[in-house]
Amino acid sequence: MSSPALEILHRVFGHTAFRGEQAQIVQHVIDGGDALVLMPTGGGKSLCYQIPSLVREGCGLVVSPLIALMQDQVEALRQLGVRAEYLNSTLSADEAARIERELLAGELDLLYVAPERLLTARCLNLIDRAKIALFAIDEAHCVSQWGHDFRPEYRELTILHERWPHIPRIALTATADAPTQREIAERLNLEEARRFVSSFDRPNLRYRVVHKDNGNRQLLDFLSAHRGDSGIVYAFSRRRVETVAAQLVEAGIHALPYHAGMPAESRAGNQRRFLQEDGVVMVATIAFGMGIDKPDVRFVAHVDLPKSIEGYYQETGRAGRDGEPADAWLCYGLGDVVSLRQLIQQGEAGEERKRVELRKLDSLLGYCESTECRRKGLLGWFGEPHPGNCGNCDNCLEPPQSWDGTIAARKALSCVYRTGQRFGAGHVIDVLRGQTTEKVSRFGHEDLSTFGIGADLDARQWSSVFRQLVAGGLLEADIERHGALRLTADSGPVLRGERSLRFRSETAKPARGAGAKKSRGGGAAAAAAVADLAPDALARFNALREWRSTTAREQNVPAYVIFHDATLRAIAEQAPDDLDDLAQIPGIGAGKLDRYGEAVLQHLLDHE
Ligand code: ADP
Ligand code: ZN
Repeated sequence: MSSPALEILHRVFGHTAFRGEQAQIVQHVIDGGDALVLMPTGGGKSLCYQIPSLVREGCGLVVSPLIALMQDQVEALRQLGVRAEYLNSTLSADEAARIERELLAGELDLLYVAPERLLTARCLNLIDRAKIALFAIDEAHCVSQWGHDFRPEYRELTILHERWPHIPRIALTATADAPTQREIAERLNLEEARRFVSSFDRPNLRYRVVHKDNGNRQLLDFLSAHRGDSGIVYAFSRRRVETVAAQLVEAGIHALPYHAGMPAESRAGNQRRFLQEDGVVMVATIAFGMGIDKPDVRFVAHVDLPKSIEGYYQETGRAGRDGEPADAWLCYGLGDVVSLRQLIQQGEAGEERKRVELRKLDSLLGYCESTECRRKGLLGWFGEPHPGNCGNCDNCLEPPQSWDGTIAARKALSCVYRTGQRFGAGHVIDVLRGQTTEKVSRFGHEDLSTFGIGADLDARQWSSVFRQLVAGGLLEADIERHGALRLTADSGPVLRGERSLRFRSETAKPARGAGAKKSRGGGAAAAAAVADLAPDALARFNALREWRSTTAREQNVPAYVIFHDATLRAIAEQAPDDLDDLAQIPGIGAGKLDRYGEAVLQHLLDHE
């Protein structure tokens, strides 16, 4: 490793060492090579082009698709004392002219540009006259026509290589799947570039899947372990977003809604608050996502089923970018499966596409009901082997029991059949358990041979059986009939007793209240991180956090741009009493020390 890169890592960024493949990537680009970098969210992609831009002669030019993303990056770099600017449509002509002058005078280290701006004759001409250290193409998957983030201008970025073949290019993305990788290499003319593929594992995320019985209460229980944390709650529809957000506000939680149906200003306003304030819970549809670079999101909770494993991975990936513990919590029930199938089938997409989407949903259900390590299942879906036993998912922390469900499955399927394949799970369960409800009497279902044959299991156990039958493709929800369950081609062998089945046991119903939660060995991954601070350190941490909020508000920047939580925690723990000690703390480079060193020390003194 060349020492200038390491020196910059320490002095400017305040980090102790490179992570994963960063060192190799940085060196390769410094040496003038092209690179295609695939790294999960939070892996540390930015350094891979920022450091070479500082080491190489000239200015690093970064193509970035989102204006909000650019502003945050540039703000964070300026805080470090790096000379960074952006060129996009939000600038006045005067400002743009000033930045162009600075570029030509060699006064910039990094310049972020929107793709459509870059492709203008004026900008290409500018590049001709300036000294450029490298081209970085961020969010490179935007070149893929099949992805959700397709940007046609990305296709034209090949011009960079054609016009300036000697300037190294580095393309970066967090999109893992093989077809997208190939498309990026092909479309950006990067077939010859060296490929750096990192593991897509996110070891600091704790994955959990729970079954919905009272979704709202379950969410509040989950959130009680995350008081004061920033997080995202994903819900299925605009309406659900509004309802869930209102319920949280009612419960005293600082929650804000976000969905595509809101007026643009209030949506943008809520996003801004989420980024800038500490401890906001954003309740959102998946319209909220790309460009959320906030590193200290402590949890992502899905209160409804996501659409696919890929979607789930991307959405949960927004938690814990700073590498600190974070929770990925999913709460789902059979009703979600019905709503999602309905959504897919009534959608605009063609038949082929619908079939693909339904299959993806089935894979996700399989993941939810699986008893194996969640990490192994998730990474396996992306073709990355994992030995399992990660020790940081529900199935590893509290290994689920399984039971022989052959007979129960047979009873369930034959009761669905006897009741005419016209009812949802609730009614069929009443019949199985021999409950004489109004509906049971109305349809004369007391007289069926299956009435009361399932009194040995309670309603909760039955509902788990039905969920697993649906997840396993042994029952399907008929959308035309409001989710009535009907048999599938695979039901036959089970009904005839030719196939045996094992089911995942329902974990005992958790007792209410926080005490019970701790004893289950679960709890929140994140709250624990601060909880193990000694009382006086915790007091210092809270005081520093307050100082950070005020400072961030004064400058109108997000709090994490000042210091990350991990840095604040280290300061709180070590309580340094001079600038030299403070400088040793990871996350404090020369620029930050200059700007905030005195203020932090003073604040610590004031809170002795
Ligand atoms: P990505 O763009 O891959 O999602 P970022 O570049 O935003 O990730 O980095 C994620 C977080 O990791 C940032 O908060 C960054 O400060 C931190 N980080 C990156 N590299 C290092 C490193 N070598 N040491 C410590 N922290 C790092
Ligand atoms: Zn695991």
